[in-house]
Amino acid sequence: MTKTELRKHIKQLKALHQDTIATDSERIMQLLASDTHFLAAKTVLLYHSLNDEVDTHQFVEEWCKKKQLLLPVVVGDELVLRHFQNVDELKIGSFGIAEPTGPLFTDYDQIDFVAVPGIAFDKNGHRLGRGKGFYDRLLPQLTNAYKAGICFPYQIVDEVPVEPTDITMDGIITL
Ligand code: ADP
Ligand code: MG
Repeated sequence: MTKTELRKHIKQLKALHQDTIATDSERIMQLLASDTHFLAAKTVLLYHSLNDEVDTHQFVEEWCKKKQLLLPVVVGDELVLRHFQNVDELKIGSFGIAEPTGPLFTDYDQIDFVAVPGIAFDKNGHRLGRGKGFYDRLLPQLTNAYKAGICFPYQIVDEVPVEPTDITMDGIITL
């Protein structure tokens, strides 16, 4: 399947799995919370989920008190990172994503762990995003971070087609 076909295919599967988003998300966040790379990390980049993604809302609220927690902000074609310390600091930005308004974070070498959302992943850690390449441009700058793809089980496919600019995950957290 091409990337475009795969995005359509997963979209159809998502429609069939609407009912279990909440319960599956809770279980996936429990796995993240017990992941050794996550637990060892001091500075983590998470994402604030959209409705069709593994729900991270409670997780970021809880963990922002325990670790230096960052969230992405869309600025043009790039993701910049801001500190997230309080749920009141969120503001809806591009693509309807809730984004932090806290201090800008630019010391990318300090990031130990990044949770990466995606449309699909394969067993080799190859990732398909929404097609704008945001994470493909961001992740090469996070030289020390363990990169964990986060997804529902039906988002794991046999093979994600890869291009030279696609960044491979170090692990996948799913059920
Ligand atoms: P996604 O990763 O969101 O699924 P794609 O991998 O399909 O998106 O990439 C979307 C576009 O972004 C492609 O045209 C790709 O060439 C471009 N792109 C990805 N990474 C980079 C990069 N590091 N520099 C410039 N363009 C990039
Ligand atoms: Mg890509």
